[in-house]
Amino acid sequence: MSFLVDRFSRSMSYLRLSVTDRCDMRCLYCMPVEGEPHESRSEVLTFEEIRRLAGILCGLGIRQIRLTGGEPLIRSHVPDLVRMLAGIDPLPELSLTTNASRLSRMAAMLRAAGLARINISLDSLDPEKFHRITRGGRLSDVLDGIDRALEAGLAPVKLNTVVLRGVNEGEILDLIEFAGSKGVENRFLEVMPLGAVGYENRAGFVPAEEIRGIISRKYRLEPLPFRDGSTAREFRADGGRLRFGIISPVSERFCATCNRLRLSARGRLQLCLGHEDGVDLRPPLREGWSDDAITDLILRTVREKPAGNHFATDPEPVFQIAMSGIGG
Ligand code: SAM
Repeated sequence: MSFLVDRFSRSMSYLRLSVTDRCDMRCLYCMPVEGEPHESRSEVLTFEEIRRLAGILCGLGIRQIRLTGGEPLIRSHVPDLVRMLAGIDPLPELSLTTNASRLSRMAAMLRAAGLARINISLDSLDPEKFHRITRGGRLSDVLDGIDRALEAGLAPVKLNTVVLRGVNEGEILDLIEFAGSKGVENRFLEVMPLGAVGYENRAGFVPAEEIRGIISRKYRLEPLPFRDGSTAREFRADGGRLRFGIISPVSERFCATCNRLRLSARGRLQLCLGHEDGVDLRPPLREGWSDDAITDLILRTVREKPAGNHFATDPEPVFQIAMSGIGG
């Protein structure tokens, strides 16, 4: 049961927690080459502050916490944060989304600290194209990271691909075969018009229907039942050997069953990816508010969660800050 209920009777049980807005890659649909202006260290929540807010939110009904960013694994000592979050009662399921540049040396530590599952961004299997899309990333690091995550027992491992026309839509079938060979699942994402670069890349938008079409030319797709709160329409193919999901925040919104909240690295509780509504929780934390007072503020804010995004209809970029700032 969740006390985090909005005016549309949606219950929040999932928190995406950005641990840093910095990133060591510059994916062309996510961050400009020069990067985004980032928060100074003192503006970013400490692990103790994150743990306190996460504890309050789990007490109110959050059951899953996903660490993200920016690149979560470039913040020092992230396994310590995972261990701290694993001490919350009731224990939330802990997961992480990463570009895997540093995953190979950290996977076992993260698992030992209490991380359950992991999503790894992988937009191409071609080293040069991967380098181009990420503007500097090394594919071999990511492939090593996937193997180490599997060895460490992180499960499930999922591979996230943002599909862009003229860039990687021709690799969808290869990515599915690759995931099948590793026994992991794909997630294909529609590009969202977030921030300046997301908006610029809307010309590369490939709708979910077209992604399904590309896959169904080779495989007979078996749709899996839609799970409330999930953002992916999931499918099996080839007798269950292949599993993938398509995340379609633009063409087939899933806002009516949204169960998500986001906490930015500087402590802003954000209600929806497509709107700026939210509340800054860092001042209350640093001004010594009690847990009860912070709880009240959170409950009042959550009630105002917007009905949904307008990615498909807004003529302008929906947001002036990029995914890295919101905790994508
Ligand atoms: N650095 C980590 C990573 O690369 O996975 C975590 C943060 S990243 C912002 C989280 C996910 O958001 C990645 O899978 C990335 O591809 C996706 N993403 C970023 N910008 C996007 C956009 N404009 N539209 C859709 N997905 C986007």
